[in-house]
Amino acid sequence: MYMNTIIKKIELPDGRKGLLEAAEILRKGGLVAFPTETVYGLGADGLREEAARKIYEAKGRPSDNPLIIHIADRRDLADLAAEIPEKAAALAKKFWPGPLTMIFKKSDHVPKGTTGGLDTVAVRMPSHPLALALLKVSGIYIAAPSANISGRPSPTCAEHVREDLDGKIDMILDGGEVEIGIESTIVDVTERIPVILRPGFITKEMLEKEIGEVALDPAVLLEKPKKEIVPKAPGMKYRHYAPKADLCIVEGKTERVIAYILENTKKKMEQGYKVGILAAEETKERYVQGIVKTIGSRKDDHSILQRLYGALREFDSIGVDYIYSESFSEVEHGYAVMNRLLKAAGYQRERV
Ligand code: AMP
Ligand code: MG
Repeated sequence: MYMNTIIKKIELPDGRKGLLEAAEILRKGGLVAFPTETVYGLGADGLREEAARKIYEAKGRPSDNPLIIHIADRRDLADLAAEIPEKAAALAKKFWPGPLTMIFKKSDHVPKGTTGGLDTVAVRMPSHPLALALLKVSGIYIAAPSANISGRPSPTCAEHVREDLDGKIDMILDGGEVEIGIESTIVDVTERIPVILRPGFITKEMLEKEIGEVALDPAVLLEKPKKEIVPKAPGMKYRHYAPKADLCIVEGKTERVIAYILENTKKKMEQGYKVGILAAEETKERYVQGIVKTIGSRKDDHSILQRLYGALREFDSIGVDYIYSESFSEVEHGYAVMNRLLKAAGYQRERV
């Protein structure tokens, strides 16, 4: 079914009218995409099963992949979580509002249609002013996964959302480019030692500084997971963030990486293929062939996070067959960047 998707540019504080309209759509059980500080989310009423179901339909998302519920106030957590462990309260105090999602035992009124059938619920209080305003004006808890078609990179601007979801959702609130550019860190706080299920802007070290030891789910290590490892965040088992092209991450000393990429780009182009190269600002000039995209300087991990998904989307729209990417493991948020990049590559990497 095709619907007319309203796209509205909103700048606070003048955008009240658009916000009221969006809130009304959400209260009636409709779908609104909106910016958060991490990526754009596709929102629906988190306590209404049939509203959440529409999210799965629009995204083509497997129904066992639970949604994150967004709240506007730390106190709302008590409404959604059956219990709030001390360490979770400490993390909420430090990192909310912000790019941290925590997994709790769910309270009775969170429907399983929102949690993918699980007895736990993922909760986050975002810091983006527009997201907070939408939560407050609508007065509901908003369930929102990333606003992309399942299997595509998460959207970092409204145009990405339009590409994927135009005609499938009621409204897109355009609040410009997002600040962070990759999804929130997910921490399971139901365990005595909290476990990171998805790395993000809030790093293990930042969490440990607040609450002591934090573990990493084996499924988020930067190696191809062995078959028997079942990630605890159901979403992490799907091939996420996948570009249409065959993506390979090339790791090693800079000069050898450049030589490898140059040689293979030449080879593939001679075979008639279109080749994309994902490079840092510092090395981009070295690639004399292929379609080179830079996602920022190695000294500025902010731009690398922010531009990663956009660059993958651009390669998609150009229609390249192969992408060679430099490795970004040593930049400040390198762990999160490589987690996303390796997943996009289906763990295809070349050590040179
Ligand atoms: P997205 O908002 O698109 O980044 O997707 C939400 C992510 O949160 C997915 O990877 C889910 O698997 C994960 N998630 C949501 N709820 C839970 C939960 N109750 N337990 C574990 N992971 C969850
Ligand atoms: Mg997602």
